[in-house]
Amino acid sequence: MLLLTCPHCGPRDETEFSCGGESHIARPSLEATDDAWADYVFFRTNPMGVTFERWRHAYGCGCWFNVARDVVNHRILATYAMTDPKPATSETAISNGLQQSAELAR
Ligand SMILES: [Zn+2]
Repeated sequence: MLLLTCPHCGPRDETEFSCGGESHIARPSLEATDDAWADYVFFRTNPMGVTFERWRHAYGCGCWFNVARDVVNHRILATYAMTDPKPATSETAISNGLQQSAELAR
């Protein structure tokens, strides 16, 4: 079970949230090729390590926010507002520069 920190409500149980998939995906221009649109619509990265995801506090404030999470050990490295830029990928830079949330609930 994950313990996520909503930027507006604070730490809450994972069951209050819904995951919206990968974050920081740039939408192609209207003149982009079909391959660029297919990549945007259908393909996502699946790295082993730190990922950046969109989450919604569905049973709370209803707001969307971003989560930096290590998918290997399920550690939540940071939660931050949708308007904030994508943080650096090293764990140190993430935890030092942004609101750090609680780790995996045991
Ligand atoms: Zn909330």
